[in-house]
Amino acid sequence: MKIHEYQARQLLADAGIPVPSGTMVSTVEAANDAAKSLFDSGATLLVVKAQVHAGGRGKAGFVKLCKTQEEVNEAASFMFGNKMVSVQTGPEGLDVTKVLIADGVDIASEYYLAITTDRTSGANALIASSEGGVDIETVAHETPDAIKTVRIDPLAGLQPYQAREMAFRVGFTGKQVGQATNIMLKMSTLVEETDASLAEINPLIVTPSCDTFPDGQVIAIDAKFDFDDNALFRHNNLQEMFDPSEENAVELEAAKFDLNFIALDGNIGCLVNGAGLAMATMDIIKMHGGSPANFLDVGGAATLETVTEAFKIILSDTKVEGVLVNIFGGIMRCDVIAEAIVAAAKEVSFTVPLVVRLEGTNVDAAREILEAAQQELPTMQTATDLEDAAAKVADAVATTCA
Ligand code: GDP
Ligand code: MG
Repeated sequence: MKIHEYQARQLLADAGIPVPSGTMVSTVEAANDAAKSLFDSGATLLVVKAQVHAGGRGKAGFVKLCKTQEEVNEAASFMFGNKMVSVQTGPEGLDVTKVLIADGVDIASEYYLAITTDRTSGANALIASSEGGVDIETVAHETPDAIKTVRIDPLAGLQPYQAREMAFRVGFTGKQVGQATNIMLKMSTLVEETDASLAEINPLIVTPSCDTFPDGQVIAIDAKFDFDDNALFRHNNLQEMFDPSEENAVELEAAKFDLNFIALDGNIGCLVNGAGLAMATMDIIKMHGGSPANFLDVGGAATLETVTEAFKIILSDTKVEGVLVNIFGGIMRCDVIAEAIVAAAKEVSFTVPLVVRLEGTNVDAAREILEAAQQELPTMQTATDLEDAAAKVADAVATTCA
């Protein structure tokens, strides 16, 4: 589960990591009110930031520094009124429904800091770079030596000497070293406590020298977290941060019924059980010249209710011009699945071609059920194997479209 920057900033602040204060707002009026109170309390620079589950906002014009009330008004109006399109969103972009109004800071230098799972070493890794602020994938591609990593022992946790060494390696100097070390250690504890699979501060900045901080102050001004969904049950505070408006509506609807739905760009809907079978099904559809519009994995429980919902969800996708059902009955018996398919198909009244391929326990009984239902379901064809099924559905869709 991902969260917004304003929520991530709150987690960092609660963990004792320095973050400029800010307020999340949902309307232009509220943005103006928040800005007014910050300006009234002495702020001279504010930053207006679109809150969406995607980065690259700076380059897309959705992070704006503002010195006056008018500038805040203009920035907030622009953000609420336009879709945010960045390298991370795809060309369709994202609607902006939340904006953060925060204290702006002067920046002397920008760093990158993250903790994420490193599958090769089987542990979390602390990652840091002096090339912060920009897209870290570009840094990794063009100047990989600028990215430093250290393995965090799962039992011992990040050790103070490791954090301190990292601070020196990426170029912090003087009093910045102690501040950066502290931030890394606090971030590591936070990752541990929240079961985060990713925690990223980009940029972690150093402010220009001033009387109180002659070497500058190390502050987090953008943060991103991703949490392990399987561990969310033990974090009520994190569950509350879930924002359904950032998720694909159809995928959310599917999740309510324990169905995994993935939208794609083709025109053949696929109902399968098991992610591996889904991959194989899509490959074979492609090999026969077809193109999957989505795949919906009903998991281990293909019941009347789940198959009916699955059909409804697949058919709600207007791109779908044919449906392939490919289910392997292991513990689930094929005859039970066949009955569910027939009942569900009648309920949602199919008009597009439907090809059903079943294999496994009680498959003969299942084929009889499908044959018996043939008259009532004129668009249905049965297939003997996956090859046959893929060829039939690709053919049926090509014929319908021709
Ligand atoms: P992202 O582009 O979505 O990652 O958004 P960020 O919050 O990281 O902002 C992008 C860039 O805007 C940063 O790397 C900074 O250079 C700049 N920026 C963001 N906030 C401030 C601020 O408070 N002061 C200044 N001077 N620049 C900022
Ligand atoms: Mg950033």
